[in-house]
Amino acid sequence: MRPTPVLLGRSVVVGYDVAIVGGGPVGVALAVELGQRGISCVLIERHLTPQPIPKGQGLTNRSLEHFYFWRCVDELRAARVMPPGYPIGNVTTYSTLTSPYYHALGARSSQGRGSDVQDYYFQRNERLPQYCTEAVLRNRLKQLPSVSTLFGWTAERVELDDSGTSITIRPSNEGDDPFYSWSADTEQQINQDSSRGEGRRVLRCTYAVGCDGGRSLVRESMGIDRGGRNFEQRMVLAVFRSKELHEFLNRFPPATTYRVMKPELQGYWQFFGRIDVGEGFFFHAPVPIDATPDNFDLLGLLHDAAGFPFHAEFDHIGFWDLRIMLASQYSLGRIYIAGDACHQHPPYGGFGLNTGLEDAVNLGWKLAATLQGWAGQRLLASYDEERRPIFKETGEAMIAGGIDRDRAWLERYNPARDRAEFERAWAEYGSSWGMQPRAYEPHYEGSRVVIGAEGAVCSIHGRMSFKAEAGHHLAPVELSTGRNVFEELSDGFTLLAFGAREGDVVSLEAAARVHNLPLKVIRDSYREGRSRYASQLVLVRPDQYVVWAGDAAPPDATGVMARVAGH
Ligand SMILES: Cc1cc2nc3c(=O)[nH]c(=O)nc-3n(C[C@H](O)[C@H](O)[C@H](O)COP(=O)(O)OP(=O)(O)OC[C@H]3O[C@@H](n4cnc5c(N)ncnc54)[C@H](O)[C@@H]3O)c2cc1C
Repeated sequence: MRPTPVLLGRSVVVGYDVAIVGGGPVGVALAVELGQRGISCVLIERHLTPQPIPKGQGLTNRSLEHFYFWRCVDELRAARVMPPGYPIGNVTTYSTLTSPYYHALGARSSQGRGSDVQDYYFQRNERLPQYCTEAVLRNRLKQLPSVSTLFGWTAERVELDDSGTSITIRPSNEGDDPFYSWSADTEQQINQDSSRGEGRRVLRCTYAVGCDGGRSLVRESMGIDRGGRNFEQRMVLAVFRSKELHEFLNRFPPATTYRVMKPELQGYWQFFGRIDVGEGFFFHAPVPIDATPDNFDLLGLLHDAAGFPFHAEFDHIGFWDLRIMLASQYSLGRIYIAGDACHQHPPYGGFGLNTGLEDAVNLGWKLAATLQGWAGQRLLASYDEERRPIFKETGEAMIAGGIDRDRAWLERYNPARDRAEFERAWAEYGSSWGMQPRAYEPHYEGSRVVIGAEGAVCSIHGRMSFKAEAGHHLAPVELSTGRNVFEELSDGFTLLAFGAREGDVVSLEAAARVHNLPLKVIRDSYREGRSRYASQLVLVRPDQYVVWAGDAAPPDATGVMARVAGH
């Protein structure tokens, strides 16, 4: 049911359970997550349509699981711009694209990096421009009656009081320049004086979530600061078309991204990414700090990276600053932030969008559970406890660590100094890649709402495994019906009872009822792939993370249910 607007003074006031500020991919994903659970929410997005910059293209196997549960995974795959089956592979070259030294990772497999971890996820990875992904999510939103969308509206003031939050919004000006929240030229948003001005609306909400990108108004208005590492490096982002470049790239096995490493770039990359397979590309690379489209020879830079001249038509040129920033907290009172509003960083490794979508899923079910009345106070607090450490380590170990490791490698090895030594090291550099995707397994072993080991922490350094362990993502297995366990998981908690004693199942069900925890039981034999969980009873929470596993019901089953619901 849609809330009824009320006129208060000169402003129209409308009430919702949740206001989401920012309808980029993360905001729309959160709206889908809440809308599927019947939560009344409003999404405010300043642009009418997604911005036509390809940006986050690489979607991981895990992100595709989210699209499966958002019931639009087929639509997402159909929105792919590259031909079906075209490999999602990466090429890395030394010095220029013409170099004799290159590695093609995953280029012969249609899934690229995703194939190394495929067994542990229910979905294959995918690649498509971010605006296509956003369009799929916006379409899904239309099917969810509890969500109201305000595209073409800008939030200009966010306030928190004892009973909830107020968001003052105004219609966006059609004539405004596009607002690029990651861009070097975009100013930090701050609360505006909204007391005067026609056409304002005030949204009164129990909770508000800022999914409003790197220059987040919500984060700023709550006084949440950010820390991290500033590399003092300006980067260019160009979107262009070139058939000549496309034809040249036929020298490599089919791939989607082409990374050029050069000693003088000190670990930063010159990076070409395909938008389609034909002529569309994006490119990012370090540039001088004072570079502008007018004083900078961008075509010359493309030629330098490629190692040969070619014709290119530019569709977009923008700049961003290379920083790894993390908010000091992900919430204040009833206000939360998610996605780039929490963590901003270079697109090295493709962590931004994928991390943001996981934020939306983690926060979404916890907000819904709280509003539906079956969550304890710790459940929402666990959003910060689980998600912040994951990004902290991702930023430090994977992104900054990767830049530092590449810089040190490039200083150490150089074919002009010692060709034989360089060639040995280059071969080793390529072979170590295969290990990387498996080394990244974000988990919440240390979360207070998970029955993990004493002294455990939340970390990205997990182990891809079929064993069902508290705090870890559930691996998919086949049921005796032939269906996958992921096809049977519920929106609430699910108890997998594989060959378990009925008395133990009944005791866990009764404990769940004590705390009004929604629980579905899936009974099956403890045979074939199902025994790989190494536990006959596995309790899975709504975001497909295991919270407890054992062969018999725990003596304090009610205590276990209380803890996983955040009491
Ligand atoms: C060149 C490039 C390549 C990238 N490649 C990858 C990749 O391969 N994989 C990956 O995972 N990530 C990648 N990323 C990162 C990814 O694009 C971001 O992490 C992602 O866009 C974050 O989504 P978001 O919804 O949190 O923020 P945004 O996409 O920034 O969306 C924020 C939204 O909030 C709106 N907004 C802001 N303020 C207001 C306001 N006051 N009122 C109303 N609306 C407002 C904005 O209009 C915008 O639509 C890349 C980024 C760049 C720049």
